[in-house]
Amino acid sequence: MWGKQKIKIPVEVSARHCHLSKDDLEKLFGIGYELKKLKQLSQPADFACEEIIDIIVGSKKFEKVRVVGPLREQTQVEISLTDAIGSGVIPQIRLSGDLNGTSPVTLVGPKGTLDLKEGLIVAKRHIHCATEEAKKHKFKNGDIVSVEIKSDRPVIFENVILRVRDDYKLYMHLDTDEGNSAGINKIGEGIIIL
Ligand SMILES: [Zn+2]
Repeated sequence: MWGKQKIKIPVEVSARHCHLSKDDLEKLFGIGYELKKLKQLSQPADFACEEIIDIIVGSKKFEKVRVVGPLREQTQVEISLTDAIGSGVIPQIRLSGDLNGTSPVTLVGPKGTLDLKEGLIVAKRHIHCATEEAKKHKFKNGDIVSVEIKSDRPVIFENVILRVRDDYKLYMHLDTDEGNSAGINKIGEGIIIL
């Protein structure tokens, strides 16, 4: 596809967090409530919010889970498989936004509680790539690559899906289990290989 070229990529580790729909935000924080931006994230559209909520997964409760903006069509809670141990729930590994048939989860905000029938996932490892950059490397949306992580605990992650969009920036996203396995705390470096 793109021969033997090696492409360096920054790698970020995402801790447990949630995305909210407008309706669900209002159920948790009150009618007319708006998210407050705390910190810009690497993808230009995304930001960490001041808002935190509690999450209940089966028999386990997680306090102070960060809300990530902007608002989404559907509420989505992302945890790691390690988080789920002992909860009685085994969340599916899914791409963001692919929530059909995923596990139930309860969200507790300052103004209300929300029992969702689905929306809990373990995020599937992925790469964000801008459309222009994808053209340069002959990538297309949905391509599968491997990424070699350079660290004291080197790992090759296979089956990494590429997500291409005009406003994306080149970053790989892992969850905390994957980050720990590869010796990456918050940010590291990898090489896209094939
Ligand atoms: Zn991502």
